[in-house]
Amino acid sequence: TIGVIAIDQNGNVAAGTSTNGANHKIPGRVGDSPIPGAGAYADNEVGAAVATGDGDIMMRFLPSFLAVEEMRRGASPTKAAKIAINRITQKYPDFFGAVLVATNKGDFGAACNGMDSFPFCVASEELGGVVIKNVDCE
Ligand code: ASP
Repeated sequence: TIGVIAIDQNGNVAAGTSTNGANHKIPGRVGDSPIPGAGAYADNEVGAAVATGDGDIMMRFLPSFLAVEEMRRGASPTKAAKIAINRITQKYPDFFGAVLVATNKGDFGAACNGMDSFPFCVASEELGGVVIKNVDCE
């Protein structure tokens, strides 16, 4: 999955995903990517989140929605991403995936599971362009 969060100059937040789905998927599989709250979720009042990984598991937990709601309740982006991943790994310890989160101000964080680390890109004027970041999975 390619997950994207965009914030415009007026603080409008959008999130979206593009995916080729799961390997060997059965015809008609939808997966998490097009499901609001699972693959992506955005709220101008808070921020947004996008997710990648095993969508058949993720769509049961709505990790993008959960991460945004945790930020609404005061969690940092990194904490919100960890809460969303942990909610899944409590039931599926071997879950493979990542959640990326940004506030409507552009602060960001990420969490992952089932791999060593997860790379992602951030672009802003402050950063002077595109910067590659990496989050260690716990
Ligand atoms: N989440 C996607 C799916 O299960 C797969 C991916 O992240 O690449 O359809």
